Amino acid sequence: MKYISTRGNAPAKSFTEILLGGLAPDGGLYLPEKYPLITRAELDVWRTLSYADLAFAVLSKFATDIPAADLKAIVNKTYTAKVYCNGRADSETTQITPLHTLEPGVHILELSNGPTLAFKDMAMQLLGNLFEYALSKQHEELNILGATSGDTGSAAEYAMRGKRGIRVFMLSPNGKMSSFQRAQMYSLQDPNIFNIAINGMFDDAQDMVKAVSNDHAFKAKYEIGTVNSINWARVSAQVIYYFKGYFAATKSNDEQVAFSVPSGNFGNICAGHIARMMGLPIAQLILATNENDVLDEFFRTGAYRPRTTARTYETSSPSMDISKASNFERFVFDLVGRDGAKVREFWNSVETGGAFDIADTPYWLALTKFGFVSGKSTHADRLQTIRKLWQKYGVMVDTHTADGIKVGLEQRRPNLPLICLETALPAKFEETIVEALGRKPERPAAMQGIEDLPQRVEVMDADVAKLKGYIAMECGFGVRRHDAAL
Ligand SMILES: *Cc1c(COP(=O)(O)O)cnc(C)c1O
Repeated sequence: MKYISTRGNAPAKSFTEILLGGLAPDGGLYLPEKYPLITRAELDVWRTLSYADLAFAVLSKFATDIPAADLKAIVNKTYTAKVYCNGRADSETTQITPLHTLEPGVHILELSNGPTLAFKDMAMQLLGNLFEYALSKQHEELNILGATSGDTGSAAEYAMRGKRGIRVFMLSPNGKMSSFQRAQMYSLQDPNIFNIAINGMFDDAQDMVKAVSNDHAFKAKYEIGTVNSINWARVSAQVIYYFKGYFAATKSNDEQVAFSVPSGNFGNICAGHIARMMGLPIAQLILATNENDVLDEFFRTGAYRPRTTARTYETSSPSMDISKASNFERFVFDLVGRDGAKVREFWNSVETGGAFDIADTPYWLALTKFGFVSGKSTHADRLQTIRKLWQKYGVMVDTHTADGIKVGLEQRRPNLPLICLETALPAKFEETIVEALGRKPERPAAMQGIEDLPQRVEVMDADVAKLKGYIAMECGFGVRRHDAAL
């Protein structure tokens, strides 16, 4: 399996060749040259597999240059319930991603059983083990640079803490995350973890990461890699749970389903799109946004108009407070018939502060082939959904999952089983849960009182030169200072 760039101007590469990198050299994102098609016979076998075995089956299609025995060991190390699930202590978690049925035909797929209580652990825990494997083969070091609106950062840090040869430099918008999210990240004292709070929004932080990544000399000198949602291995790891969720919610591979996905960077739902392209019977991919509704606007009108940071709202589902959805380009590449020149044209206008609009083009008609529908959810909707689920089913959901459920129930076709992806536990967003329900969500024992722990964070203006200086300094001194730990 080779990977090509969405902008059509980069050489094809293998899975391990793109594992540690981010963007392709032409500025595009990598995608498989062709999606592997899953036969009906394979689906029938996959239906019976455990999470770890299913993960191996799916990833074997993508990571064709990792020897099978090695891949199997990496996958088993990652997706063993005892190792993976410290979020929920109940026995259900032995399934890694248990399906919770609210009523016939309406389900929640629990994806937040990992160490940081968000779905991003599903991919990031695998990435940590893949990185360690690749670096040990090549005797190399890696400095991971990332931007987070909350959950990516903690998932990355918990996946990489203490890993040999790896440092993490994680940018987050100063003061914009929940106090729990801040505590999760900033209280880590591991010497290979560096938290940097940027005076700005998530998009400012993400732009800084892009700027550093585009400085090829700096990137090479300091061995910079990314774990942002554009990382292909992350997307491929997310494909697995669409299969698992489908099998759990259906009795046979003749049935169709709908998935509803709370979306920000389009990474999660992009994996759903890929699962569907591989042949999983998904009739609808329901994209939910919060007040930051750039993606909803696209799927309703055909216009993709990323907002300026001044017009990105701070909401109570902060992990979706994103206006430039970095993975969206992957879908658009498929939408335009894999025409790299067209993608370049569209993103030229996006990157110069503009937009593109497919409403009056043949692509608008093509869009109907891909099963997407969308909707948006506001703070009031979120509170109402959280209350409704608590009163009706005794189930407490977090703010992002609530956005997905609200839009999912609105947009799904009647009689189609609806699988709502749970993207975080309510414990991460305590303030809004208290506002909705007048009570605090439960917290895993290990996370009680983490807000009181000492925090370690560098506050910085959105200044790329300053960031480079900081990385250079920590890499220069860091190796000696933290020699033993690294
Ligand atoms: C990251 C995140 C999302 C958005 O996922 P994308 O892959 O960026 O679309 C939604 N909810 C939560 C809780 C998240 O952490």
